[in-house]
Amino acid sequence: MSIPQRRCPAPGCESKGYQAVAWYCEACDEVFCEVHDATHGCGVPGDDEYWDRTMQTRSIILHKFLNGLDLRALTKRASVLNGGCECLPIDKDTLDETLMSGGQHFLVPLDFRTGERWLARFQRPSNQRPSPAMCQQALLSEVAVYKFLASIDFPVPKIFDYAMNEEHSYGIGYGYILMEQMNGFPLSSIFDGASQETRTKILREAAALQVKLAAHPFHAIGALHEPDAPQVGTLTLSWLDAEFEQPSLGPFAHSSEFWEACLHNTWSSQAGVADIDAYLGFLFMREAVAAMIPSDTSSDSGNPQFILRHLDDKGDHILIDDDNNIVAVIDWEYSWIVPKELGLTAPLWVGEDIGINDEYSLQICPAEREFASFLRDEFARPDLAVLAETGRKYYYLHRACGAVLGSNDFCDHDVPTLLRALGSQTASWEEWKTAALERYADDEKLCDLRERQSLV
Ligand SMILES: [Zn+2]
Ligand SMILES: [Zn+2]
Repeated sequence: MSIPQRRCPAPGCESKGYQAVAWYCEACDEVFCEVHDATHGCGVPGDDEYWDRTMQTRSIILHKFLNGLDLRALTKRASVLNGGCECLPIDKDTLDETLMSGGQHFLVPLDFRTGERWLARFQRPSNQRPSPAMCQQALLSEVAVYKFLASIDFPVPKIFDYAMNEEHSYGIGYGYILMEQMNGFPLSSIFDGASQETRTKILREAAALQVKLAAHPFHAIGALHEPDAPQVGTLTLSWLDAEFEQPSLGPFAHSSEFWEACLHNTWSSQAGVADIDAYLGFLFMREAVAAMIPSDTSSDSGNPQFILRHLDDKGDHILIDDDNNIVAVIDWEYSWIVPKELGLTAPLWVGEDIGINDEYSLQICPAEREFASFLRDEFARPDLAVLAETGRKYYYLHRACGAVLGSNDFCDHDVPTLLRALGSQTASWEEWKTAALERYADDEKLCDLRERQSLV
């Protein structure tokens, strides 16, 4: 679900449908179709040439950003918020170095006379970002999430102030979040090489946090809005639709509505192309969603059942101190309130061999087993343990719902994995497709696509 959609800037390019699904090139800060991503001339990530161009582009973006940033207004605002304690002037030249590291945000450190340090966080301007309205919504949503998490005593940095855009920024120049600086290093940098004792300690703490989130469910699926009175609204989305507009999804009262909307949104962004495999991919996913997600017939019985999930929990969002305690969980931009089956699977960093790369294993790994055993034995939540042990297939379903339907990656990886998760006798895309062409022989859209293809 993270495909940004933009018109390919290559001269004369008229790519449509999944061929137009965007590929971001950091070297030139443009989003290309699949063909022009490979051929537009920036080289391949990892090459020296690509790296040089990337650093040049980062420098251009950074200097444009710094030109619009009033550092004196920023330190003045911080001083006011910190009870008049002087915030030390910031040297633009040192910022140059610290802000060149890439990522989705610029983090400007704010040092006070007392030695205290805050961070001012700005969205990094980039062609990869969604519409300005969605950027504002994402910022407000993230603040709302931090406030909610602080209210349930979840370890997050304190938020001192925020502005949704330049207009509300006290002359600083951009929307911002002012937050506490947390001292710690990313979990992802130590977990793999850590001793068993350390891993156990961290898994236990992470299980306690899972219990805490599960203890504070919501009545609807969506994103948190309204920092001052957090409530569930439409999903914050980091991509545009096929018309290059920002789609509006949710909020949803039922799990099945959420899954169907995710899939239909993906299909509608790729439906411009007369491609049989893309359409069959959509039909495949429609079957998979129907088989894995029971359709809700009753209305919400009054029990809230949807859970806040950090959807990018690969481990760099958790900060660990020298004694291996979790000091904070950060970067909640684009986090959603989701159905339990997706919200309470084990975090991605726990499932070491989860299909982040090429591995699409459905087997539970030792860390997941340990994580689940804490949920079951120490926290007396066997229901959460079961979700952590069996939830991996929902992670794959979610990923496939946002995949490029009919692409090689989808057909070679997503489809066989979901077929296995469903316990199907059919093992491969080709096998499924052969049967589906017969099964859907009367499908109007499929007939239309076959006719058009035969005319080409
Ligand atoms: Zn490029
Ligand atoms: Zn193109």
